[in-house]
Amino acid sequence: MEHYDLIVIGGGPSGYAGAMRALDFKKKVLLVEKKRIGGAGVYDGVLTSKTLWELSQKVSSIREMIPDYKIGFDEISKVLKEAVFERKTQMTVHLQLLQHQTNLFQYDKGTASFIDKNTILITKEDGTSKKVSADNILIATGSRPRYLPNIAIDEKIIMTSDGIKNLTEMPESLVVLGAGVIGCEFATIFSNFGQTKVYLIDKADRILPFEDEDVADIVGDSLEKQGATIHHGASLKRMEEKNGKVEYELEYKDGKTEVITVDIALVSVGRVANVEHIGLETVGVKLNERGSVWDDDTQTNISNIYVAGDATTEMALVNVGEREARHAVVRMFGPTIKPLSYQNISTIMFLNPEVASVGMSEQDLNKKGIAHKVVKLDYSTNARAIAMRKTKGFFKIIVTNDSGMRILGMRAVGEHASSAIQAVAYLISTNQGIKELADMMHPHPSIIEGVQECLRMLLGKSIYKPYVFKDKLKCYVCENGTCTPIDTLA
Ligand SMILES: Cc1cc2nc3c(=O)[nH]c(=O)nc-3n(C[C@H](O)[C@H](O)[C@H](O)COP(=O)(O)OP(=O)(O)OC[C@H]3O[C@@H](n4cnc5c(N)ncnc54)[C@H](O)[C@@H]3O)c2cc1C
Repeated sequence: MEHYDLIVIGGGPSGYAGAMRALDFKKKVLLVEKKRIGGAGVYDGVLTSKTLWELSQKVSSIREMIPDYKIGFDEISKVLKEAVFERKTQMTVHLQLLQHQTNLFQYDKGTASFIDKNTILITKEDGTSKKVSADNILIATGSRPRYLPNIAIDEKIIMTSDGIKNLTEMPESLVVLGAGVIGCEFATIFSNFGQTKVYLIDKADRILPFEDEDVADIVGDSLEKQGATIHHGASLKRMEEKNGKVEYELEYKDGKTEVITVDIALVSVGRVANVEHIGLETVGVKLNERGSVWDDDTQTNISNIYVAGDATTEMALVNVGEREARHAVVRMFGPTIKPLSYQNISTIMFLNPEVASVGMSEQDLNKKGIAHKVVKLDYSTNARAIAMRKTKGFFKIIVTNDSGMRILGMRAVGEHASSAIQAVAYLISTNQGIKELADMMHPHPSIIEGVQECLRMLLGKSIYKPYVFKDKLKCYVCENGTCTPIDTLA
């Protein structure tokens, strides 16, 4: 039986990153993947949805000039296939070359399951199997869409994000169940293409309930302007296939009900960790209350078994999964390191407009009763946004309510918003003040200048003055549940 320093179960972004990190420590590694290298990072997840979003943004821009412009689903499928092919080829060729260049790395295709805490059984598609052993094992088996017990999902007419690839033509109408990030992303994508009447079922009073109201409002308004209908405060009574279409019934808070028929439905109600059939119970690996693998800073209750990525469902994001896997490997083979922090992780939501965020929101701070100062700058003041003719959006920076003005959080909502977030994320993670970034020479015209102008506003030296452009530059202090506008915070 072949013995390794590390066996990684699952070749999605987390497993891949963990396996590569172990090679830096000159460790002998086996990566086992049951289906396709890349996981949801490439298929049915990030890459496919982001390729669709990018394409839909382009189509939306073209439609601003040529309202009748249409793109066929065959063209969309072709672009999707190209993107997936490029990424999967790159990742696979990298593994193949690694196998040739170092005898430390092995890749095996098959389904891995625990025999004991050091031994894994790999079962191949043809039914053959083999045993391998390792000092350490990293579980990176990922997640899959959550199904609801009363909705029959066939991935053709009623589908999850996994079923989007099965579409062959643009639907005339679509209902999205779930107004979280993935649901809103797909509602945005199909609205952008401009050929589908989109309905979004939102059981709360507003979409993106974990985000600040101003963020949710701008995204909701934009969806509605594109012709989407958002069923706010609606609970789904039933959703079923009828004569090749989808019929769903909603009940609103006032007791009113409504029945609507659409071409297809997308059920987007979260994800569940892949924890079954891996033999976790055989070795006694504990699960948490959410049904995913329990961990203490990536280590499970069995000391040589670690977990990373969606299998923990700590935060289902590629950057988080990769980081966890790399962290787990350093814990196995490297020097002692500080526990991972899940605070201040930068995220992008691919909506219309794009939303980038890091750190705490105003909503979080108000709930926790933490006093803070806020500066908000309208996108229309940014020269790059004007040049792009995309002036919808805002920058918002939240700092401590003291003279130190440490950054607590930031939200940027607008075209290329994600390009503005990382500098602020760096300031937060290194606990630095705002002065250096405010005084730095930024390229012009650039979106990041919006952040600079916010920081200057905090320091009382912005170019546009908040007491002149009151609708475009806002400063306020929030304390004990009350927010008071002020002309300048300096
Ligand atoms: C529609 C959508 C959009 C998303 N957009 C973003 C985004 O914009 N940004 C972002 O950061 N994240 C995004 N995500 C989340 C992201 O896709 C996941 O967080 C990420 O893929 C998790 O990586 P992972 O390696 O932990 O799991 P996965 O990607 O799920 O990979 C797990 C792998 O393990 C394999 N496996 C499972 N069991 C076994 C076994 N027993 N033996 C061998 N192999 C096994 C699976 O086949 C799979 O390949 C999105 C997800 C979805 C669904």
